[in-house]
Amino acid sequence: MNAFTREGHSGLRADWEALERVFISPDAASRATLLKYMQQILFGLHDFLNTNVGITEAIDLKALSEQYSDTRLPDNPEKKLSDIITDLIDQVAPRAVNVASPYFVGHMTSAIPFFMVHLKTIVAALNQNVIKLETSKVVSIIERQVLAKVHRLMFRREEGFYDKNVQAPDATLGLFTGGGTSANLFALWVARNAAFPRKPGFAGIEADGMPAAFRAHGVAHAHVLVSRRGHYSLAKAGGVLGLGNRNVTPLPVDQHHRIDLAALEQALETLSASPKDRIIAVVGIAGATETGTVDPLPQMADLCRRHGVHFHVDAAWGGPVMASRRHRDLLEGIERADSITIDGHKQFYMPMGCGMVLFRHPHIADVVAYHANYVNREGSVDLGIRALAGSREASSLILDSALKIMGKNGYALLIDHGIRLAKDFAAEIRRRPDFELTSEPELNILTYRYCPHGWRNLPADTAIIEDRLDDLNIRLQRDQREAGRSFVSRTKLPLPGKMDREAVVLRAVLMNPMTTLSILEKILDEQERIGARLAKEILPA
Ligand SMILES: *Cc1c(COP(=O)(O)O)cnc(C)c1O
Repeated sequence: MNAFTREGHSGLRADWEALERVFISPDAASRATLLKYMQQILFGLHDFLNTNVGITEAIDLKALSEQYSDTRLPDNPEKKLSDIITDLIDQVAPRAVNVASPYFVGHMTSAIPFFMVHLKTIVAALNQNVIKLETSKVVSIIERQVLAKVHRLMFRREEGFYDKNVQAPDATLGLFTGGGTSANLFALWVARNAAFPRKPGFAGIEADGMPAAFRAHGVAHAHVLVSRRGHYSLAKAGGVLGLGNRNVTPLPVDQHHRIDLAALEQALETLSASPKDRIIAVVGIAGATETGTVDPLPQMADLCRRHGVHFHVDAAWGGPVMASRRHRDLLEGIERADSITIDGHKQFYMPMGCGMVLFRHPHIADVVAYHANYVNREGSVDLGIRALAGSREASSLILDSALKIMGKNGYALLIDHGIRLAKDFAAEIRRRPDFELTSEPELNILTYRYCPHGWRNLPADTAIIEDRLDDLNIRLQRDQREAGRSFVSRTKLPLPGKMDREAVVLRAVLMNPMTTLSILEKILDEQERIGARLAKEILPA
């Protein structure tokens, strides 16, 4: 036994021979297991998920936590690859959530085309690090190209603009991030730095920090303006960037959950007139997380231009709507943004872990450039120069391939299906006397609640009834989730015409192309059954 050979309980040993095998090729047993399951996963993903992944299992969270409480890290190998794969398939998959089920309509995570799994595997196998050209070469170049393609889909700038910038090392049309949260953070980071430029005695906010920036510019507060429907990642960015999340000001919305333009104009005027305040950015939402609604982007762009403020559009959800000829007008004005957030793992149907931020001006991101002696050297073409992440996988290969396989029209079919289905679902909810539609679908998200028709005109105090309805909908959503046949999510929103109080509402996100109206009807049927039972418990007749 040499220094690298140790034997454990399992009888397995960490030795050089085994080590070489795991780098070069799996043993025969592992190979057989891999082939068996990978065959299912790679070519029968749909059937695999149906049989192996449950929405919920009978086992509760407490029991699960107990099963996963051993924190010892053994010195020796515990299992062979073949056993690990069997465990993942038999033990983990059935207790994970079947987000691909057409009955799972509660969140922005859903089925993905099977080819995404293949592409992800290839990306992992190539293991390129797009931080720098030296570890990615052509992949960095492809990344610039695909970002320019998505930029073009959103901003529709002229041909010459793209010819000039697509491969220009000093241009940044956009970058990949881990998701929408980090894309929003990146956009606001750029906006923050641009809002506190250098001046004599001040090297810029990135170099000198927030207190120095405030002193140099005579400012006491820096603000981001967004509607109440803004994603909480924007508040998080306010915290990370040192603005304070309370200075990410939630502005009121109208009956349709769109930013109140008068309130925005007022805020812009008040803050611009105050020398102690600086506005970092105004954020427009293209597809609000809770309601799917789109802010009035053209009017917001006008206001931003008038006040010289950075206009960021959070299109994490709605961005791909631009692929649909039928619906892209819903995002009119997005082309006037200074920056745009888009999530690849939402309506581009990519596997987890892909966001993007795009910039109208190819040099605006220079305010966050970083260099090092061993990578990202001054004047190099490394993508890591303007990035939040360091080492980073080649998500661009997945998106680029997906765009080729699907085409704009393929994505348009998905978008059109979701929006059509949301409208049909809304009509079905309106038709049923025990439901109330609480937000009209503009894209493919809508909210509603269970509200027994007998409760509508009760003589009781409406505040009491409203509290009971909240309670009823919380329990309904939970009971349905626990029954494990279908899933909608819930949130709290003001009801139409009652903007002063937030009510508990159910939320449906219709992105799975396998979801049909008849499936949604079954979900409502189940909610009627659960709701009727709960109504009797909560408010006995
Ligand atoms: C989902 C979402 C985000 C956050 O994206 P993650 O990928 O979850 O980090 C931001 N904004 C909007 C509008 C979203 O829908």
